[in-house]
Formats: sequence, structure tokens, C-alpha cells
Amino acid sequence: MSAVTESGVVDAVTKELFIGGKWTPATSGATFPVHDPATGAVLCEVADASASDGMAALDAAVSAQAEWAAHPPRERGEILRRAYDALLARQEELALLMTLEMGKPLAESRGEVAYAAEFFRWFAEEAVRIDGGYAVAPNGSGRFLVTKQPVGPSLLITPWNFPMAMGTRKIGPAVAAGCTMVVKPAEQTPLSMLALARILADAGLPDGVLNVVTTSDAGGVMEPLIRDGRARKLSFTGSTAVGRLLLEQCADKVLRTSMELGGNAPFVVFADADLDAAVDGATVAKLRNAGQSCVAANRFLVHDSVAREFARRLADRFAGLRVGRGDVAGVDVGPLIDAKAVAKVAELVDDATDRGAQVLTGGGRPDGPGTFFEPTVLAGVDRDARAVREEIFGPVAPVVGFADDDEAFALANDTEYGLAAYAYTTSLDRALRVGAELDAGMIGINRGMVSDASAPFGGMKQSGLGREGGEAGLEEFLETVYVAL
Ligand code: ADP
Repeated sequence: MSAVTESGVVDAVTKELFIGGKWTPATSGATFPVHDPATGAVLCEVADASASDGMAALDAAVSAQAEWAAHPPRERGEILRRAYDALLARQEELALLMTLEMGKPLAESRGEVAYAAEFFRWFAEEAVRIDGGYAVAPNGSGRFLVTKQPVGPSLLITPWNFPMAMGTRKIGPAVAAGCTMVVKPAEQTPLSMLALARILADAGLPDGVLNVVTTSDAGGVMEPLIRDGRARKLSFTGSTAVGRLLLEQCADKVLRTSMELGGNAPFVVFADADLDAAVDGATVAKLRNAGQSCVAANRFLVHDSVAREFARRLADRFAGLRVGRGDVAGVDVGPLIDAKAVAKVAELVDDATDRGAQVLTGGGRPDGPGTFFEPTVLAGVDRDARAVREEIFGPVAPVVGFADDDEAFALANDTEYGLAAYAYTTSLDRALRVGAELDAGMIGINRGMVSDASAPFGGMKQSGLGREGGEAGLEEFLETVYVAL
């Protein structure tokens, strides 16, 4: 690839559709722009697929399925392993590309490339460990053989907030399991996925196994593929609203689904917590990706005896952070993805202050271009404030007090979501209770980050269905077949 310069990394990406192993423009010739959220400038144009381009991608995936399912697992794993090596070798240029289209600081982009690569390493190792079972029938009359087979052509829809890791988390297990796929990246951040497709092709992925369609018309392109019936699986990461719509569409042909949807993670600080550690963890849990993560700490529930002190220390920390374009040295917090995101975050802050919250730091947009929002701490927030009820997806930390453990658990669970939760306590007993009481698929105790390629990532309630990563992530792309002998 090219030198690590802004124009170099953007120029190096082929901005076309990747179908059946070939790069091709949209049949209409249409393109759509990709923006740098830090400046609003157009970085480049990419092919804008129509429904018929999407169908051509599904045709390619369907044609490649039988051969791919029969491909030796060891070779499937080695393709992933080579792609893992390539991702790390190109970490610097891929990180810059990601920062340009998505905005996160370079250090975070480097971290995401490494995290994304881990899914390939993990599933490279899992590809050769897909096994089955053998049992004697309970009445002794026969034998049962249990085998796994790939679920079949899969549709993968990824969001803009982690443009590469949300791709590898789905592509890794699909490749390991022997599924072909059509991937549709978010329209805001198609470049990381296009670069990834090139890396997988160079790593030896056969034509038609991975097809990538970039489009400004997500619904128009994907709905016909979902309703077609030949795709057997949809794996989606995005908002609960769109997830709900897609589940309805999947019902038509009874597709298998994996749904990673929204969250409203509580970050609970008990009276016995190490407050400095809690502030460190809160900063990561809140400000990674400028708060634009489904596992971001959304509500800070803090015991009344330490709530003021925790909020003050968190505000001091946030006030010292530098907001700016992600490629500038020393920048801690990048822009939000677009103006709509900034407007929503501003509305939530206004709603909280209208209900009596105090702004300890931040609270608004810094001057200048780009879609930035200041790291913000709100104290004394009403429990019914929108910032407590809704997914903020921005760098705003509302602090709410609680009186005792039971109240903390009740507040934490008082949401339709159930993705991540965090708790700080020095009591083992309390930590175990947190694990048992909180309705969340992932719980961090005395840590502000839970994601790991080898662990099952996912939520309960309206945060979704299924798990990604770990052994569970592979199961999502496998069917179980039992043969009675
Ligand atoms: P966000 O609000 O964070 O952008 P979305 O759920 O809208 O989250 O988007 C996540 C992914 O879902 C993106 O790739 C987007 O293009 C895609 N998407 C949005 N609407 C639809 C739809 N109606 N059908 C299929 N995909 C969609």
C-alpha cells in the first residue's frame, strides 16, 4: 500500500463494489461522498450500489457457497491468519484511514485495527475446532451423530462507529464456518471495509466468498436480499429501531439472525469503590470513541455519600482533555459522526439542565468547524431525564445518586436495554451480587472496558439476540445436523 499520508491512504482504497472477486462500479455509475467529520470536507466518492447491484452480490455469494463449505477448514483458518498478519503490518495506514472517515483519535484507531485483527486470529484458530458429537440412543436402539455445517450465504450489516472491528467480528466467524457473505458497511465509513476486502482477497479468500456493497440506500438494497430467501442469515450491528425493522423482514423467510443493538449501560460506583480507579474507568467507558459506542457508559449511578466527589473528580478529568481532529497529536476526543448527532446530544443536555442538572464541565459545542461536542459532566440529574433514559452516543456523563444497593440495582435495570454494565466496588460479595442482579450481557467489574475477541459479546432485552466473538460467535454461523443411525 501507499505511504502513510492522508491522500495516500485514501487513494489506495478501491472505491468500487467488490462482487464475485471483481471490483466494479455501480451499474448506474452513481457514487456518494465520504466526509471527514472533523472538517466536513469530502474525502472521496465511492460506488453507490442499487438493488440490482446488491442482487448481483447475493448471486455471487450463493454461487460460491457449496465450494466454500467444502474448502478445508485449515485453509479457511490460514486465510484469516494471513489477513491478521496483514492488518497488523498495515496498522498505521489503516488507522489513519479510519480516523479520516470516522473521526476517532489515531491512538484509538490503531487500537481498533489491532482489536479487529484479533477476531481474525481467534477465528483462524477456531476454524479447525468445529466438531460434533456421538451418542448412543437412550434406549440402546441406535446411534446419534451430531455435525455442524455452515448456515449458508450470510448478510452482514455493519455500523460506522467501529468501521473495521464490527466487520471482522462477523467476517471472521463466517469465513471460519464456511459461509459466503454480502457485507454492507455503513455509508458514513465505507473505506475501512473496502480496504479490508482487499486484504482478504490478497490473503487468498476465493472469489465470491466476500462481496461488499457500498450504498446510500441501505434499506432499498438490503430488503430484497433479506426477502430473497437464498441468504440464510443476517448479522446486524446498529440501532434497535433498525434492528426491529430487519427482524420483521427476516421473519418472511425465517432467516437466522444475530442482532447487536443499542445499549444504555449503567456505570455503578458503590460507596466502597476506589474513586480514582472509578474515574479512570469512567473516562474510558464514557469517552472512548467520543461516547459513540453501544457499550459506552450511559448513566453514572453513584452512591449518595460519594456522588458529589466522584462528579467533581470526573469533571476535573474531562476538563483536562483535548478535543480535536483525530490525527492531531495530543487529541483525546474526536468529533461526533455528523451534525445530527451533535444536535441530539445538545438536546439531551438541555433536557437534563431544564430538569435541574448542573453542568460541571463542558455542556456545548466548541467554536470552529467540524461536529465536535465538549466532554461534559452533569451532576444532580433527574432519573427521568432523557440522558438517563436514552442512548446518548456522545461525550456526556450524567451522574445520578442512589441510597443503597437495592436501589442501585433497580435503577440499573430500569431500561429496555441490557447490553453492558460496569460497577466499581472493593467488596467481592458486592461484585458477585452485581454479576447476579444486573440484566446485562456484559459486566465490567472495576474496569471500564469489556470487549475481547475471545469473549461472547452481546446483550439481552432490546439490546439484541445472539453473541459475537468467542465460541458463541462461531455458533451463530453454524447449523446443527443430527444423523440417527
Ligand atoms: P446509526 O443510527 O448508528 O447510524 P443504524 O442502525 O441506522 O445506526 O445503522 C447501522 C447500519 O444499518 C448501517 O450500515 C446502516 O446503513 C444500516 N441500515 C440503516 N437502515 C437500514 C435499513 N432500513 N435496512 C438495512 N440496513 C439499514
